[in-house]
Amino acid sequence: MNDYSKLLMVHFKSKSFTIAVGIATHSIFPLLRWLQQRKIDKGETIWLEDMPGPPQSQAFPHLSFQPADLTPNAGLLRRRARHMKVDYPATDYPFAYRKTPLSGNVINGLGEEAARQPDHVFFGDSYKRAWGKLDWYFQVMEPTSIHRQIAQIFWQDGGRVGIVARRNTAPPDPSDAALLIKEAARRFGASLAGITKMDASFCYRDSSPDFQYAISVAWPMDREEMLHTPSQRSNREIMDAYRQVNRVAIKLANFIRSLGHPAQASTNLAPGSSTEVLHVPIAIEAGLGQLGKHGSLITAEFGSNVRLATVLTDLPLAIDQPRDLGVDDLCRNCRICETNCPPHAIFSEKQTVRGQKRWYVNFDKCAPYFAETRGCGICIEVCPWSEPGKGMELTKTLLGRRHPVTGSE
Ligand code: SF4
Ligand code: SF4
Repeated sequence: MNDYSKLLMVHFKSKSFTIAVGIATHSIFPLLRWLQQRKIDKGETIWLEDMPGPPQSQAFPHLSFQPADLTPNAGLLRRRARHMKVDYPATDYPFAYRKTPLSGNVINGLGEEAARQPDHVFFGDSYKRAWGKLDWYFQVMEPTSIHRQIAQIFWQDGGRVGIVARRNTAPPDPSDAALLIKEAARRFGASLAGITKMDASFCYRDSSPDFQYAISVAWPMDREEMLHTPSQRSNREIMDAYRQVNRVAIKLANFIRSLGHPAQASTNLAPGSSTEVLHVPIAIEAGLGQLGKHGSLITAEFGSNVRLATVLTDLPLAIDQPRDLGVDDLCRNCRICETNCPPHAIFSEKQTVRGQKRWYVNFDKCAPYFAETRGCGICIEVCPWSEPGKGMELTKTLLGRRHPVTGSE
């Protein structure tokens, strides 16, 4: 597909989805929400398959079927961190599947020794995804104000691709080009930016964008708002952060194209774009931070209180190296996210996932709570790294313990 047809297709998708969401926000969604709410008020179960909506048809012939277990884990002492501003909603859900879906952990490759590309489970550009019915319930139950924010995100996304300038005006030296790009990212509003080489493991199985480099950009969320998670207030802040970080990536991709090199923004939530790459592994390789026990990125500057987007390009760039902040040293002995997570979805020990030993969150336990609360972010806000100004100090202490200064000259 040439640049012009790609541009037309992305613009068409972005505008038509915006119009569709705009119409549904004031017609179908309030009606469906009212119908579901009536069932909840009467104490009836919402059977996800019975909800009017798009069909769910994705099959996984390459995976053996293991049913998901959505029941919250029990046994751990339930705690609520004192600095959190709202009580955590209960873990009894008004919905259920008639036919239990394939476990999200199987789709994610939990326990698989061989490396492979990831598959989508939840979220994405299509409710056909394996857990699309739960995703649909999540979308239907979102309030109108959030649907308006989503429509804005869809509209903005049309600019993620574009025409490449004919003249190459980028610095020939990759180090100079990297400096220029990072400086531009900060000018557009990114709080953190890093560069890595593209790798197949960063892309979903059904999407392998053909680019050489990935630039990770981060936007911090308002901590005061996020201390109200999970609530409509924090959800509004999350949507705003997605819109902002997407905007930064779109502007940066546009800037690179103006230098005469192909670039496209891989953003969040928007159809097509949000299903291309996994932002967290890219951010880790690009030196923005490390993976925490709660399964999210931890940065020294903002902890996990950030949202990410990625710019893909062929402009030759000097790459960054992953950073060791000492995250593992703390996560091994800290259980704050584990004990605060209402369904206790967070594994105490690292797990093998698609050939890699890493921290992992039990998808089958997290997803129902996440859907019911319309975007739970408890684990990232209770994490000590997310306390403003704490990360740098933690890194210094944790790394200092590994290499104690002897005091001798
Ligand atoms: S809360 Fe503790 S265990 Fe969880 S990610 Fe943060 S430091 Fe690690
Ligand atoms: S988002 Fe975090 S705290 Fe919330 S259910 Fe999932 S793992 Fe638990």
